Amino acid sequence: MNDETQISSKAAQTLKQVFGYDSFRPQQKQIVEQICKGEDALVLMPTGGGKSLCYQIPSLVREGVGIIISPLIALMQDQVDTLQQLGVSAAYLNSTLRAPQVQQVIQQLHAGELQMLYIAPERLMMSQTLVMLSQINIALFAIDEAHCVSQWGHDFRPEYIQLSVLHERFPHIPRIALTATADKATRQEIIERLSLQHATLFNSGFDRPNIRYSISENSGNARDQLLRFIQSEHPAEAGIVYCLSRKRVDELASWLCHKGLNALPYHAGLSTDRRRTHQQRFLREDGIIMVATIAFGMGIDKPDVRFVAHLNLPKSLEAYYQETGRAGRDGQPADAWMLYGLQDVIVLRQMQQQSEASEHYKRIEQHKLSAMLGFCEITSCRRQALLHYFGDYLDAPCGNCDTCLEPPKTWDATTAAQKALSCVHRTGQRFGVNHLIDVLMGKESERIKRFGHDEVSTFAIGKELNTQEWRHLYRQLISRGLLSVDIEGYGAIKLNEAARPILKGEPLQLRKLKKAAGRSSKRGKNNVEAFATPEENSLWEKLREHRKELADQQGVPPFVIFHDSTLREMVISRPANLLDMGQITGVGAKKLERYGDDFVGIITLSE
Ligand code: ADP
Ligand code: ZN
Repeated sequence: MNDETQISSKAAQTLKQVFGYDSFRPQQKQIVEQICKGEDALVLMPTGGGKSLCYQIPSLVREGVGIIISPLIALMQDQVDTLQQLGVSAAYLNSTLRAPQVQQVIQQLHAGELQMLYIAPERLMMSQTLVMLSQINIALFAIDEAHCVSQWGHDFRPEYIQLSVLHERFPHIPRIALTATADKATRQEIIERLSLQHATLFNSGFDRPNIRYSISENSGNARDQLLRFIQSEHPAEAGIVYCLSRKRVDELASWLCHKGLNALPYHAGLSTDRRRTHQQRFLREDGIIMVATIAFGMGIDKPDVRFVAHLNLPKSLEAYYQETGRAGRDGQPADAWMLYGLQDVIVLRQMQQQSEASEHYKRIEQHKLSAMLGFCEITSCRRQALLHYFGDYLDAPCGNCDTCLEPPKTWDATTAAQKALSCVHRTGQRFGVNHLIDVLMGKESERIKRFGHDEVSTFAIGKELNTQEWRHLYRQLISRGLLSVDIEGYGAIKLNEAARPILKGEPLQLRKLKKAAGRSSKRGKNNVEAFATPEENSLWEKLREHRKELADQQGVPPFVIFHDSTLREMVISRPANLLDMGQITGVGAKKLERYGDDFVGIITLSE
């Protein structure tokens, strides 16, 4: 056997033996072999794509310890637990350890006892750490969340910039940098700052096919819409609900609890202790709904989050993609569900105008917000649009987003838009949307009379639409940049140059108002498939119960013992002996040895 085939068969063996997986996913094989051969790689792979195996397998195949640099300290414990369950000797070094624990890890490193070490970048950069590393045998350096080197990104970590030192001090050790969020500019920054000019680029694109994207108008009762969505689509399942403010988070979490759901709040205003407890419960218990500000999420590795709901508009598609990306890491069906309304558009436009950033930066932000708003209003496939924004390409509509499943209707909005725009003009560009709608609808209020607006030519010319439809129209006109919101003028609506063609008669097609996506026959269910028989259901519950017992005994989250998908496979194929059990995806040699008898026992007893 030559070197390459030897590497390739060793890698495949490790995949099966240690992880219990039959085959590599697309790209994983090439990446693993590249690193095993001692060469560098830059890996762009979507969340849930399977980045960890790309450095874990080479760490096991190559001599020495694999050093994994990650900014996500909170996750290291779970990652190490997961590896230890697989029989891999792994440890971590970060600021949460006390001196004697650090000493122990260092001893293990010197003794060559560790196969993988997770380390925080600030710990790595300490001079004694670098000296220590130069004295031991290293298999590879993996730089996880590599986009953290980008100063423009939202996750910038200053210590990441210093990581180029690895290349200078350890030129012969292969490096693999990984990220799920890299547009072209960030990718270039990663290559330059980490000196990865010679690395092979592996780009798996950005698509998350198991996530179903849906966006609906907030019809004024967002929380009821949310409740209906959760109850009909994801009862008793884990999910994240994002809100803009802390106050809203607290209110919504307690309201959901009051409605009988298992919801917890999470935001920066809670004590560190409470935040930690809530995060732990989210990871360890079944079916918890985390209601959170965007302070929650970076590095949430929970594989079975079944939905991410947004009750406010994120400020860019990058943020939307990242936040929704926390759903369905396990590849099973998951929902990205969002409500947005006129108020969102106004608030975000205002925040932008108030920003004290440079003109250049403001222009970029404006462009990003427009892209986000455009995404909400499109009438074609959302996934195609989203991927296109990231420079990726999907040649046919996806069939798994709201616009594909229930194509939105459009209507000729030319006349209505002209009325809405001229009403802004006739009232002097000094009023907000509510007042404008009152004028259009011909409301005889004291306020209207005081300003003499019952005399203007647009008074009472808009009775063909109702209030909600006018709000919807104004939102679309603001989204499209035909109107803007003046903050100094207390939210007064002003005409933009872009409105002129419409006023002159250029036709305008708009998306029709749609009811929030609930369950409907056309959409079909988007759940993990139900079992066929009550016996299967009861076996599933028994297996889960036993998994929970084992997890609690060892103080680890249940998914560290077995993933849901592994238990499902056990239910369907009912392995009756250890040999068959070993064939189940996710049952490697060590887990078979530790848990095989128990689980085979439960299965055969339930025959
Ligand atoms: P990422 O870090 O890219 O978000 P992970 O490395 O956490 O993704 O992998 C996502 C999930 O896919 C994990 O549950 C992992 O065990 C599983 N997985 C990865 N590669 C394979 C494979 N070749 N076969 C089966 N499952 C895999
Ligand atoms: Zn689609």
